Amino acid sequence: MGEAQHLEWRVGDVIIRRVEARVTAVPHGSLCSGLTPEVVDEHRPWVDPFVADDGRMLLSIHSFVIIEGSTTMVVDTCVGAHGDRPLPQDPHHIGQLADAIEGGLEAVDVVVCTHLHFDHVGWNTIRDPFTGGLVPTFPNASYLVSEDELENFAEHDHSGIAGVSVDPLVAAGCLRAVDSNHRVSDSVSLVATPGHSPGHVSVAISSNGSRALITGDIVHTPIQFLRPDITADRFDADSEQAVLTRRRVIDDVADGDTLVLGTHFPPPTAGRLRRSPDGVVTFSPHLQPRRPS
Ligand SMILES: [Zn+2]
Repeated sequence: MGEAQHLEWRVGDVIIRRVEARVTAVPHGSLCSGLTPEVVDEHRPWVDPFVADDGRMLLSIHSFVIIEGSTTMVVDTCVGAHGDRPLPQDPHHIGQLADAIEGGLEAVDVVVCTHLHFDHVGWNTIRDPFTGGLVPTFPNASYLVSEDELENFAEHDHSGIAGVSVDPLVAAGCLRAVDSNHRVSDSVSLVATPGHSPGHVSVAISSNGSRALITGDIVHTPIQFLRPDITADRFDADSEQAVLTRRRVIDDVADGDTLVLGTHFPPPTAGRLRRSPDGVVTFSPHLQPRRPS
């Protein structure tokens, strides 16, 4: 384990650790055209940790490591260092990820790809120093992708990730097409959340009466929990479906209890949703001190 500090949460007997690749301020409207400076201002002050000083949205790219007993899982592998990507690569991320996992990359049993977009699958593969070819980064892991996502992948591979982030897994025999509601372990299950991509999944954790949900890209900012009509219109495969999915997930997790972990939320990254008796939804960032890993 290295010196880096990572946000970490305990959900029942499960530990979830955030390993950051990058946080950047993105131009107004570049992700969600409805996310205007005025809309952001309506949600101050609770939204302050998630926006830059000038009100631009802060977009985090990070992996989550889930540790359940002797099983280690990784959810999403960020941009990576191979191929042409629409965002800067994150060559440092793989070392940080290795340092953040007890036993290193070889200790990972399962990699969950919430969906096949370039900023979620980049470190699925690593360059073999001897052959120069791309091989699975986590040599002992099964990589899980929903069947629906794989079936529709050919027409949605806008960033050319197949050759660098998916095909080498197929060649190595470690890619598993699974049902969108697949049970991964005793405490971890996939949840079908289509819209942003055809077979998009979120990841639900349930242990000893505690619950958490890793969103994937059903939201890019927590404002979308209060305004599910705001879509990531430039990137959604089906924005109407994405709105329906957001409303369904909000109904499911707005209990004030479920820890909601945003795949693109900068620190504090987590929060709790609550719906008042008259139907008003609020999001409370889960603030905690950083602890050494
Ligand atoms: Zn994304």
